[in-house]
Amino acid sequence: MLWRFIVLGVLLVIVYFMVKSALQGLFGKSQDVTRSVGTSGRPSEMVQDPVCGMFIPKEGAYFLEQSGQRVFFCSETCRANYQKKLSSAQF
Ligand SMILES: [Zn+2]
Repeated sequence: MLWRFIVLGVLLVIVYFMVKSALQGLFGKSQDVTRSVGTSGRPSEMVQDPVCGMFIPKEGAYFLEQSGQRVFFCSETCRANYQKKLSSAQF
């Protein structure tokens, strides 16, 4: 009758480790979620103004949609100049 207790003990140990690893997996996942949310605020990328060659942070820069791509500018004036260049090149 002793083997029954041994089998039961082994089963309990297996179940214990399965539950433990499952719980760790759950906690690990939730920690990863909070981490990814926390690191979502990346520093803003620098982009070059094609008109005056100045580097400006992408966020808050003036931009123009050109054939699906965004062109960034330091000011409204540079954007207007770029648009003028584009229209003159097309004609
Ligand atoms: Zn500019």
